[in-house]
Parts: sequence; structure tokens; C-alpha cells
Amino acid sequence: MYGDTPSIQDPNTCNIYFEENRYLDKPYDMPLITLVTTPCHWLTATGGCTTCGYNLVSSLKDEISQQNLINQLNWTLEQIDAAKYPFITLTSAGSFMDKREIADDVRLKMLDILSDNGFKHLNFECRPEYLTNPKRLLKLHDHFEGSISVGIGLESSDDFIRQCCLNKGYKLGIFLKALDALKKTDISFDTYVMLGKPFLNRRENIEDAVNTINFAFNQGAEWAILMVANIQPYTLTNWLWRRGLYQLPSLWDAIEVIHRLPDDRKNMVLIKGVDKALPTPLTFSTTCPNCNEKVIDAIRKWNLTGDYNLLKECREFCNCWKEINDDFFKGTTLMERYSMICEQINNELLAGT
Ligand SMILES: [Zn+2]
Repeated sequence: MYGDTPSIQDPNTCNIYFEENRYLDKPYDMPLITLVTTPCHWLTATGGCTTCGYNLVSSLKDEISQQNLINQLNWTLEQIDAAKYPFITLTSAGSFMDKREIADDVRLKMLDILSDNGFKHLNFECRPEYLTNPKRLLKLHDHFEGSISVGIGLESSDDFIRQCCLNKGYKLGIFLKALDALKKTDISFDTYVMLGKPFLNRRENIEDAVNTINFAFNQGAEWAILMVANIQPYTLTNWLWRRGLYQLPSLWDAIEVIHRLPDDRKNMVLIKGVDKALPTPLTFSTTCPNCNEKVIDAIRKWNLTGDYNLLKECREFCNCWKEINDDFFKGTTLMERYSMICEQINNELLAGT
């Protein structure tokens, strides 16, 4: 469960926590099940994304057998009853559709088990390069009777920001190719959008999140999930943060992003990462000690209801939203900052060897 992520985990159990969500237009606590699989291929191939700590919930050392994965699912079913939780997110430590993490026949067997147990909606998470083959996607429907959706971490619609600031490793063309395939298969998609990207100042972060959410909806996303950054151990953002070169966003910035969206799009955005995340972060984004809990509570209720008044009223709790430090990175362009910080990374890491 959240907050109790063991560093060495029984390979026959996995991580489960609940996220405030909506299902069939009603408030819903969604079980989010993260299977312990081999790590994301992007991590092992390149070092991975600059903010992601998911390697800590993968099996870096131990071999995970396909039987272990089935055992993990059966262990999950002992705790999650489909009658109470018809909608679940079941995903892996990287990409649910990557054969290196879950063999194709095992994934389909898992879907059979979920379908037989009465689950009605399955969501999973995946990088877009594993979503470009419609035939492979269509097979999922043969093994799961309910509806299916996938969450894709686009994070930014800007190639430079996604590629260079986040080291996400794919260009927009791959994302669009995945959407083309998904549209042929009746699998809907959600888009993850990060708020708090390294190298960007506050204004750029808010604007990039707004632009990316609008882009995602223009492409047909059902939901956008605004992921408020936190500090994960062993990440570049942690390294930068400790040197005063990275500042987490304020929770007020997340509310500002919603505020800037067209009214008919606001309530299709969930704000996540504010009080729970895998693995357990070193610190979360906050407001101030006087209002932080109240703002988090309002965001939780927002995720359950989509009632924008809950977010608007937050500003009455406290005046600290007027006092956010806008001077971080003042007077530099994104490119200047990027070059300067990369040079420092280079110098310090080389100096340390
Ligand atoms: Zn405050």
C-alpha cells in the first residue's frame, strides 16, 4: 500500500493504492495496481525520464517470472472486489504493452481473469511506441468484455521540452501514430501532463501544461491528468533541487492551469500527485503550512466531482497564492537556462569521476 513500498518486494505481490476519480459521472475511488515487473525499457536503455522514480517499484535485480505476474494479479483479486470496484487501473512498472515486461500471452490471460471476475473497465499505462499496432490492440478486446482505456505520458506537446527537459525519448509523431492505431480499436486514451518540468520557470510551466492539455483534448483525449511534480529519489530533478536549480510548482499553479482552460474542458482534468505517488516521494508540491491540507482536500474533492467552485473557493482560505516566488530563473530564456544547467551537470559529474 501507499507509504509502505518495500525496497525488496515479494515477487508475488504488487503495489495497490486508491485514487480519487470519477466513474459513470459519480465519485469513485479507483484502485491503481502497479505490477512489479522488469523495469521500463527506456530506463534500462538510456537512464530514463528526468523526473521518474518508477525503477524503485520495478524488479531491478530479481527475475520476475510470468507466473509471478499471474500470482500478483491473483493476490490483487483477493483484495479488490469487482462488485465494489468495477473500474481499475492495472499497469506495470513501465509499459503494460511491452512484451519485455509482460509477455503477450500472459497479458491476455490477465485480461481473461479480470473479465471472468466481473471487472467492467480496464485502464492501463503505456508509452506510445507500444501502441502503434492496431491488430495487437484489438486482441485485448477478445479477452476483456468491458471497455478499455490507456493512459499515455505525453507530458508536453512541445518536442524540445519533452525530449530535452524530460528525456522522454519520443517525438510527437509517435504519439500521433499511437492515437491513429487506438482510434481503429475502440480503446480510449487519457493523457498525462506534467506540471513542474525542470529547466522551465513558473510561467512557462503553467503555459506548457495548458497548451498540452488543450492539444490532448483536440486529439480526442477523454481525460487529461495533470501530474503535479514531486521529488523522487535518484532522479535528475532531485539532483537539481539539491543545488537550487529546480523548484517544485505550487499547488496554486495546478489550480491556475485549470482556471486557464475553457469551461467545457475544466472538469475533464484530474489533478494527481498531490498526496500520493509511487514510489514515496522525498517531498510533494505544497502551498503554505496554513492552507496546504485544505487545498489538498479541495483537490481531492475536485477529482471526485469536477465541481470548479471547489477550486475557485480555495483562494479564500489563504493569501499565500499572491506571494509565490516568480523570480526563479528570472531574466533567462529557456534555451539559456538549459545550456547553463547542462554545462553544470556536465562539469560536476565529470569532476566527480
Ligand atoms: Zn496558504
